[in-house]
Amino acid sequence: MSRNLTGFTPSGRLHIGNLVGAMRPIAAAQRADDPDATVAFISDLHALTLDHDPALVRERTLEFATLLIAAGIDPERSLLFVQSHVAEHTELHYLLECATGFGEVRRMIQFKEKSGRQEQQVRLSLLTYPVLMAADILLYGTTEVPVGADQRQHVELARAVAERFNARYGPTFAVPRAVLPPVAPRLRDVFRPEEKMSKSAPPGSGVLHLLDEPAALRRTIARAVTDSAADVAYEPETRPGVANLLALLAACTGGDPAELAGGFTGYGELKRAVADAVVAVLEPLQQRYAELAADPGYVHGVLRDGAARASAIAAPTVRAAKQAIGLMADQPPQG
Ligand code: AMP
Repeated sequence: MSRNLTGFTPSGRLHIGNLVGAMRPIAAAQRADDPDATVAFISDLHALTLDHDPALVRERTLEFATLLIAAGIDPERSLLFVQSHVAEHTELHYLLECATGFGEVRRMIQFKEKSGRQEQQVRLSLLTYPVLMAADILLYGTTEVPVGADQRQHVELARAVAERFNARYGPTFAVPRAVLPPVAPRLRDVFRPEEKMSKSAPPGSGVLHLLDEPAALRRTIARAVTDSAADVAYEPETRPGVANLLALLAACTGGDPAELAGGFTGYGELKRAVADAVVAVLEPLQQRYAELAADPGYVHGVLRDGAARASAIAAPTVRAAKQAIGLMADQPPQG
């Protein structure tokens, strides 16, 4: 059995990089004959590890879920839910903490980077969230976790914890593996092409949000950083701004960025084509979003069903882990 799983943390706002790099691939992997094989969830608990605004986390959680459905995540063909609605995530988190070394999480690159940047007190959850991520993954018998290179270390931790737990307490968890994208589909900030397009970039960055008005998308693309060369060519190393625009065009229209380059004689023309292509992809998504947002009862219903389905998979995993690690069953064995 194979199962792949991806979480979206409701901090910041979803952008076209998320759509191309994660949302569309999940939508493409869905299977009508096995709706539980593709798991997408809003990882709201992970939004609490840094300074956060409670009302905004709540609002974004619903917004993300609605956007995932608008982008083609079909609750009939995949599993979609909110992490905090499935209590087994935090339950397994604690059990896995009892199988994880302090040194193992202390050396996580993301902890070092994020804790170094923090002005306020560093939350303990910033240290331990990779163990919660391991729980997110192991609860569902996940075999494949599609991630970018920056998340690879977290999946390695989940593997290490699963293997150690299984070796010490008996076979309990499937051992997952990270699946990196075949090409490097890292869309970049169009104003700072040396950086990846990021959910948490400050306002005024070159990020194309999924819910930006078409006019705003066009303005951002018109102001994209290019270079002073006279021709249009795909040279990611030396001309990252133009390469990123071509990658964006290819992601929206299909085709190969290097070949698409040949169709343009100047940057003005290229930017207009990119703007048209981005708007052509996002406008229908935004329309679908508006319809769904007008009926939040439907989205809440999808999330409620999703949580019940998720719990039906997760609960037996937690029960097995509790039993294996030495906790007494809450009911005497039957028979
Ligand atoms: P994040 O925004 O870092 O929480 O990532 C959510 C998902 O979107 C992950 O699967 C990422 O690999 C994907 N993703 C995030 N940023 C980009 C980007 N700039 N280009 C392509 N994929 C991205």
